[in-house]
Amino acid sequence: MLKIYNTLGNYKEEFVPIDSSNIRIYACGPTVYNYAHIGNARMAVANDLLVRLLRTIYPKVTYVSNITDIDDKIIETSAKKNIPFKDLTRKFEKIYNEDMLSLGVLPPDIQPRATDHINEMIELTKKLIKNNHAYIKEDHVLFHVPSFKKYGCLSKRNREEQILGSRVEIAPFKKDPADFVLWKPSSNNVPGWQSPWGFGRPGWHLECSAMSEKTLGLPFDIHSGGMDLTFPHHENEIAQSCGAYNKTNDPKSFAKYWFHNGFVIVEGEKMSKSIGNIKLVHDLINNFSGEVLRLTLLSSHYRQPLNWTVDSINQSKNMLTRLYRELKDLDDIDINNSDYKVPDNIMAALCDDLNTPKALAELNLLANKISSSSASEKIIIKGEILAIGKLIGILQDNPKKWLGYGHSEGLDNDTIEGLIKNRNEARRNKNFTLADSIRDELKSKGIEIEDTKNGTIWRSEI
Ligand SMILES: [Zn+2]
Repeated sequence: MLKIYNTLGNYKEEFVPIDSSNIRIYACGPTVYNYAHIGNARMAVANDLLVRLLRTIYPKVTYVSNITDIDDKIIETSAKKNIPFKDLTRKFEKIYNEDMLSLGVLPPDIQPRATDHINEMIELTKKLIKNNHAYIKEDHVLFHVPSFKKYGCLSKRNREEQILGSRVEIAPFKKDPADFVLWKPSSNNVPGWQSPWGFGRPGWHLECSAMSEKTLGLPFDIHSGGMDLTFPHHENEIAQSCGAYNKTNDPKSFAKYWFHNGFVIVEGEKMSKSIGNIKLVHDLINNFSGEVLRLTLLSSHYRQPLNWTVDSINQSKNMLTRLYRELKDLDDIDINNSDYKVPDNIMAALCDDLNTPKALAELNLLANKISSSSASEKIIIKGEILAIGKLIGILQDNPKKWLGYGHSEGLDNDTIEGLIKNRNEARRNKNFTLADSIRDELKSKGIEIEDTKNGTIWRSEI
């Protein structure tokens, strides 16, 4: 039984699908005008794990995650860089997808772009005007928040907090200070589309209501995103999607479960431009393997704040190195991967609202058993570790390759082999000073050597 924490009720509840033959999920994706940071990646990785888990339980999962390719920040950046907004957004959409793939994030089944759904957004706005949830004022269309009694049901914000939170959009022509923009005018040199309300562009919140309905149908099972989107973005999506169909008393007529991941802080501090501590995935993957970054993101429970530190990255790296070493030692055991499944205790931890810290602790305990296990037990453990790795999205590499055996960037293989030969000869001659100095020389060039019963092997440090 899968349990997930539902922000709508603020408690962990059993996941009961609307249609168990097809689980439908929508996650708010990136606004593509810059490189993704580690906070964006946390959303993608948390949802990827949820989707992977659901796929092991249900026959079909449809995962939709959108691309916001029009908004004021995009317009501002394209003007500043003097490049068409479409060129800017296509470039960063591609980079985002490549970066997420390097973290083992499987591509969503559908990745709709906002600019491909302008008609759907216009139709939705028309419905809201017709149902008296929206009004036209000074070339804008605004959602009238007091018309939606359940407003605040997701974020649990009271009226005062709602007004405070929507301050960015305060305009003198609003009927109510909490009202938000559905459509706004574009001047001639700004991207826009023809609409019944003139040349303009949609407000950000509208796109996710339009695209989730188009791609998944209503209601769908899970709506997800970063915790910071709860208000106003997700609150507004509920108001729009329920208001359009006169289901104002039933927020679940839009999405049944709301899945939110927590923030990422860096070395105990909030990520911010002014501190200059924003960690971009694009930079991190130059220095660390994607699996190390992914495991670091999964090391805290997805709803808890994640403190991104050098220590946390090293811990993940050490854990993976250890697991890959164990797998390398079991290299000569051939197994048929499909014969093995994730052990019940680890499945139970993941089904308990994606308790990854518990699941990873259990994985470590399983690996600890290898050394004292019989040959037949080792076969099972190897199969189980690989099954867990497949589900979580780690341990997907060849152990020797991951550990760097037989690969060196600085020295050519013949030189390394020659130095190892000299070292072993020195050892045989009991010239340990020379032997150690050769080992140190190799180490200084990033080559680690290991004496095994089958001779000396080497690897470059990761
Ligand atoms: Zn959204």
